[in-house]
Amino acid sequence: MPTTQEASLKLIANLDSMRGTDLLVCSPIDGTELARLRMDSAQDIERKIADSVSAFEVWRDVPAPRRGELVRLLGEKLRAHKEELARLVTLECGKIIEEGRGEVQEMIDICDFAVGLSRQLYGLTIQSERADHVMQENWLPLGPVGIISAFNFPVAVWAWNACLALVCGDSCLWKPSEKTPLTALACQSLLDEVCRDFDEAPKGLSQVILGGFEQGNQLVEDSRVPLISATGSTRMGRAVGPKVAARFGRSLLELGGNNAIIVTESADLDIAIPSILFGSVGTAGQRCTSTRRVIVHETLVDEVFAKLASAFRQIGESKVGDPLEPTTLVGPLIDEQAFLGMEHALEAIKPDAVEIIGGGRTLQSQFPGGYYVRPALVRLNQQSKVIHEETFAPITYVIPYRDLVEAMQIHNEVPQGLSSAIMTTDIRDAETFKRYSDCGIANVNIGTSGAEIGGAFGGEKETGGGRESGSDSWKAYMRRQTSTTYFGRKKPALAQGIHFDV
Ligand code: NAD
Repeated sequence: MPTTQEASLKLIANLDSMRGTDLLVCSPIDGTELARLRMDSAQDIERKIADSVSAFEVWRDVPAPRRGELVRLLGEKLRAHKEELARLVTLECGKIIEEGRGEVQEMIDICDFAVGLSRQLYGLTIQSERADHVMQENWLPLGPVGIISAFNFPVAVWAWNACLALVCGDSCLWKPSEKTPLTALACQSLLDEVCRDFDEAPKGLSQVILGGFEQGNQLVEDSRVPLISATGSTRMGRAVGPKVAARFGRSLLELGGNNAIIVTESADLDIAIPSILFGSVGTAGQRCTSTRRVIVHETLVDEVFAKLASAFRQIGESKVGDPLEPTTLVGPLIDEQAFLGMEHALEAIKPDAVEIIGGGRTLQSQFPGGYYVRPALVRLNQQSKVIHEETFAPITYVIPYRDLVEAMQIHNEVPQGLSSAIMTTDIRDAETFKRYSDCGIANVNIGTSGAEIGGAFGGEKETGGGRESGSDSWKAYMRRQTSTTYFGRKKPALAQGIHFDV
């Protein structure tokens, strides 16, 4: 029987050719080495960008439904290898296997979405003010798309971008997180297999660039890459956004969140509590959409805190563990730095906290090389500046409010604006919340995390303003052209009735 590691690494056809010394990849499960790889040099990246430009020049002329066919075949490949890829996701980023499977399913879903889209890249016809004129809006392929991704969704975020970019006629260059390069190489191998049997797919259509921020930065600064889609921390976005803007490139930023759930007086707690729990501790609090703040009506705050405290204690005692085990609900943090970040945040909130449940490292003797923590629940009397920053770990703050105006003020006070939710059975509160939440996502009786691919995903303020995945997000991967055609026989008229007679 091959081990999970062996079976999953087999997905990477040419792994040996990528071995090296400068990129050490360890599993957060127990710290064991998964591989040592070679980062791309500046010359490697230069060559890959040049290949991507050449690939784009071929691919953009392939009819969009044929481009969709390539993505359909990728979806089939992913279906066939779902389990091995899900296990590699778990091995490399530590999310529980159930969520690893969910992540690969999300890739399959976006493939299906993109296939349909390949026949629906609709432009407009526009009524002209002049006789015998036809106005159109055309959507044309954009160019090589640079995709920079974070460790916590190591494959789905690539698929959100790449599947849309490919049907839109673009080539792709993917710089995955330096913490999760193996899952990227596995996806690239699966796509390579599909491309090998697909005559119209040019060499270099989709490539992976291995490395850290320096390699990412080379992509960011290269004006041959018209779109940089970057997912990661607000710190990263602050560096990337201005650089892309300075060369008049386009950036699609998907950055940090600081998401809240408001629990109103009328909330059904049987619905609210499970949603808060999954949002707070799922993926060990390492989702951009994780629930960080729970803003509870003052009449319910004791009850909600007590229920959550009991669940947090139970999870901390018996549900934290090896993410490959089916009974585990909370896997490890990605690394020591993430653990130290959690410790630091808990230390900083202590002076303001009424009560803190959980927190601290666990399972150290079983997994000395893994950073497992008990999820932490912190009760506050009011929101504190300390929690304006995103801590990428399972810490949930419970804050009371008096009326919905105050709840919205607490809710919108943080600099990020990704996901938000309200738990209520009062339609007035629900609609008021939807109108005044400043986030890109506003849910009712659904938690902050676990979006479907059909909607546009992304957030406002320091979350970066980008939208990817469903709805009309595909427009970011194409360029818009307005075209006016005159088909009459008389001297053509000018717009706005201007006469220019010689
Ligand atoms: P990170 O910012 O450390 O790294 C993300 C990626 O950016 C990596 O590939 C990294 O190498 C690259 N990078 C970092 N600095 C760069 C620079 N100056 N130039 C070019 N590339 C650079 O983030 P992380 O720790 O991997 O992921 C966690 C963060 O990502 C959290 O803040 C989370 O909220 C956010 N995130 C957001 C979304 C979203 O859709 N909004 C999704 C997933 C994760």
